[in-house]
Amino acid sequence: MSERDTPRGWVRLPDDDELEAPAEGETAEKPGEAPQPEPTAEPAPRPAAGPAGVEVSAPCWNCRAPVAPRDARCPSCDRTRTHVLLVCAEPCLELRHGPGPPLHIGRHPDWAPRTAAAFADWNKVSRRHASLTVEPDGSAWVEEPEAGTRNGTYLNGARIAAGVRTPVRDGDQLRLGLRVGFAVRLYGPGPGTG
Ligand SMILES: [Zn+2]
Repeated sequence: MSERDTPRGWVRLPDDDELEAPAEGETAEKPGEAPQPEPTAEPAPRPAAGPAGVEVSAPCWNCRAPVAPRDARCPSCDRTRTHVLLVCAEPCLELRHGPGPPLHIGRHPDWAPRTAAAFADWNKVSRRHASLTVEPDGSAWVEEPEAGTRNGTYLNGARIAAGVRTPVRDGDQLRLGLRVGFAVRLYGPGPGTG
């Protein structure tokens, strides 16, 4: 980590994550290893509209129930449209996460239950690698545990500082170590603001 990797203007916020030193069983990557090609983000969906401006419901990202464009929340699960979509090509993994508690990414089955199985054989990914938080305003933040990770977390090629909430934007590439990459899509609170 060098000073030039930290863009100016980032604000250090209190750490609300549980922290723990990186567990054993993680292996360091050799500098010569070439990164895999990054997955390409899918195009943002346009707001649904039928002929002559007739409103057409779109499926809820969380429960797939139909949501009318005028509805701010899903009538079935009460989620707003705001969420982040993370797409990883290898291992094949697609994560959607909305406002609320952070999404934990890593190999720890209790700490990161949504990713532990997919990354079980990827020992370059730390057991507690990174957390992703989505705010109700549609902003998203990634943070490594304060203890850091062996192979680092990269946002658009720049390694993020451990223990610092770092803003994530639509279209960003989020990488765990050299080989595991996520394409990031952000869907904001209003229709079509993804
Ligand atoms: Zn729903």
